[in-house]
Amino acid sequence: MSDHRIRALDVHILHIPARAVHSHGSGDVAGINVALLELTTDSGLVGWGEAAPWPVFTGTVEGAAAALHGHFAPFVLGADPVQVEPLMARAEATLVGHPEAKAALECALLDLAGQIADLSIAEMMGGISRRSMPMSFSVANPDFDADLVDIAALWEDGVRLFKLKTGFADHGFDLMRLEKLRGLYGDEIGLRIDYNQGLAAHDALRHVRDLEGFRPDFVEQPVKRHERAALAAITRAVDVPVMADESVFGPVDALEGVGLGLADIYSLKVMKSGGIRRCLEVAAIARAAGLGVYGGCMFETSIGHAAGAHLMAALPELRLGCEFYMSTYYASADIAETPFPVSDGQVHLPEGAGLGVRPDRDALARHRTGQMTARL
Ligand code: MG
Repeated sequence: MSDHRIRALDVHILHIPARAVHSHGSGDVAGINVALLELTTDSGLVGWGEAAPWPVFTGTVEGAAAALHGHFAPFVLGADPVQVEPLMARAEATLVGHPEAKAALECALLDLAGQIADLSIAEMMGGISRRSMPMSFSVANPDFDADLVDIAALWEDGVRLFKLKTGFADHGFDLMRLEKLRGLYGDEIGLRIDYNQGLAAHDALRHVRDLEGFRPDFVEQPVKRHERAALAAITRAVDVPVMADESVFGPVDALEGVGLGLADIYSLKVMKSGGIRRCLEVAAIARAAGLGVYGGCMFETSIGHAAGAHLMAALPELRLGCEFYMSTYYASADIAETPFPVSDGQVHLPEGAGLGVRPDRDALARHRTGQMTARL
């Protein structure tokens, strides 16, 4: 027990336009829409967390804000922030689903607990296995010529991992882009493919087989999240590793996936699992089953990316990198006091106790479209 109590809960709803539209097998995204959670203690400490929903994947920003303000505030106000598991159990018992709101709550609690203990979140999760991790950029602009210009600039910045979003146009467009990138950058480029559920189950296998010749590191979520038999059949049929993203939210999905032979790799996302610690449970199941893991993200600000970076830093093993590029390369503006650290194609763990990243108040005011407040 600590002698700190949470006395205020604020939800900041933000919209940050994107530099360019990104297209996916599940639709277009033109900006970042998040609900930032700010918890303030009676001792004056402030903890931050982010809910970054994607409506076709996890939920809505309106739902996340309502969960935080309407359903979680009643038991969060007055609580001791270091009691993370009991408070998250309350959140679970109060509201089904809403993993992004639960991720925001857990992150803000861990940020406070870390400041109280003078430890980073990664240290509280068991320690720092790595301070830097390779960053993957998602190639998702329907205007591929514009993407080629961006890729060239990213290459100059040291980025070597590129994930093609496929299945939003025709198969020929996907093959053309893979051929072009493999031809331009040779074996030095790490190519990955993400269909975001974009293929029809009855027709998916031949598409995936066509792409195998370009030697991708993995093919991600070719079919709909519930088409688990089809995903398992593709995983069995091809040599290229298959990654489950939309099909595996939390540890229950992860365990069931092992039984089904669903995939070779799981994409870990704080937003879909409902927090860093649930992601570590997914990672533990994957490790026990001999599966790989990858650091995925939603359309997040620096706050959400920092939560992901602490998760990735605490993992015992990480071979496939992570994709925390949004605040640096996708958003038209960052809201952090100091930019989320990305350089030389690597994501770096933020320094300092707790989360190590906090928003700039002026930037919050510029991008805020709504605010909710609850006081003790
Ligand atoms: Mg994905």
